[in-house]
Amino acid sequence: MAETTGMNITQSNHPLPNGVKLPIYMDNHATTPLDPRVLEAMMPYFTSIYGNAASRNHSFGWEAEQGVEKAREQIARLIGATAKEIVFTSGATESTNLAIKGAAEMYRERGNHIITQVTEHKATLDTCKRLEKSGFRVTFLPVMADGLLDIEDLKRAIDDQTILVSIMYANNEIGVIQPIPEIGKLCHEKGILFHCDAVQAVGKIPVNVLSDNIDLMSISGHKIYGPKGVGALYVRRRNPRVQLAEQINGGGHERGMRSGTLNVPGIVGMGKACEICMQEMEAESRRDQELRDHLMNRLQNALDYVRVNGNMEHHLPGNLNMSFIYVEGESLLMGINDVAVSSGSACTSATLEPSYVLKALGLGDDVAHSSIRFGIGRFNTRAEVDYVADKIIEVVRKLRELSPLYEMVKEGIDLSKIEWAAH
Ligand SMILES: *Cc1c(COP(=O)(O)O)cnc(C)c1O
Repeated sequence: MAETTGMNITQSNHPLPNGVKLPIYMDNHATTPLDPRVLEAMMPYFTSIYGNAASRNHSFGWEAEQGVEKAREQIARLIGATAKEIVFTSGATESTNLAIKGAAEMYRERGNHIITQVTEHKATLDTCKRLEKSGFRVTFLPVMADGLLDIEDLKRAIDDQTILVSIMYANNEIGVIQPIPEIGKLCHEKGILFHCDAVQAVGKIPVNVLSDNIDLMSISGHKIYGPKGVGALYVRRRNPRVQLAEQINGGGHERGMRSGTLNVPGIVGMGKACEICMQEMEAESRRDQELRDHLMNRLQNALDYVRVNGNMEHHLPGNLNMSFIYVEGESLLMGINDVAVSSGSACTSATLEPSYVLKALGLGDDVAHSSIRFGIGRFNTRAEVDYVADKIIEVVRKLRELSPLYEMVKEGIDLSKIEWAAH
């Protein structure tokens, strides 16, 4: 997965004349800053309301439980669920593990086939790969060049052993939104459970588990201006009633599906974060999209040989993934080290691997490496976007002046026809 860059960032306390403070955070798909209103809601649960929400014998426990139940309502309301259908976890990675492993184990008698797609988050891909080791058959569907799933591919992949389909709502690298209601409808017609990783979609675009036909849905606190280390899994209770084999055993918390003392402050914060999203989502996504389009237009107008990745009609408002061809990715990132964005390279491994999501769209390694993911969010300003655009334009131009490939292309030489001396 793409990793945040900018190892050389030093915090400057002096804003620039336009009010911009460096470094600029524009990596809101990796995580979001905590909204101050969320922090305010959480604070009492660190200090005075410190009871265990499972303590039934005193007011300390009851107050903590009230905080948890309010949060359950706030989350349920945002996604069209009921409070009883919300199971708290430590984050979306755990939610997805519980959903996929829990359903696989519970419905194994019915079949052993699971369908997902190659551009999923690692939480889904690695969970499915783990299940392959214990005898499940997993189909990893490809995507089209614009990142969308071909629904016909999905139809063809379904067989009489298929028990679960797991397709994400919106992709964390390229922002592409999948046709979720259609996928869910198809699954329901075939009696197959549908899990959706909606981490990037919830709070940014309308998500409704009923009209979207979703049975299991993963969400995360820290992608919606809430705290890290808390998440939820929506588990449908009617039409159909979904059962899961628990993956963590203990005191039987969360209706037995996820034992362990609840992270009360985190849960309260996630609830508040959902409430804010519910109230502000419409205006906020319009604003994020305006800023995103402004950034995209400025880059496209100033630079040639750029490529926008992912279908832009079905797209998250704050996401822009762009390739700057004939520019070396590493150098580009070094040149913009006062801006926190993600690159098309996964620097988690020792070797610099190109992003598997971009490769799935058919991008070559070099183009993938020269790609940048901009994640615009609630606290980004227009002045910041302009600073980032100026900086990228300046650095790309400078690097291309040094690029023999770019020179050759500008002179009209067809690079594909060149026989290189060494491989
Ligand atoms: C961040 C993310 C996750 C993992 O969520 P955590 O709460 O950090 O475990 C899963 N899926 C997508 C699409 C994400 O962006």
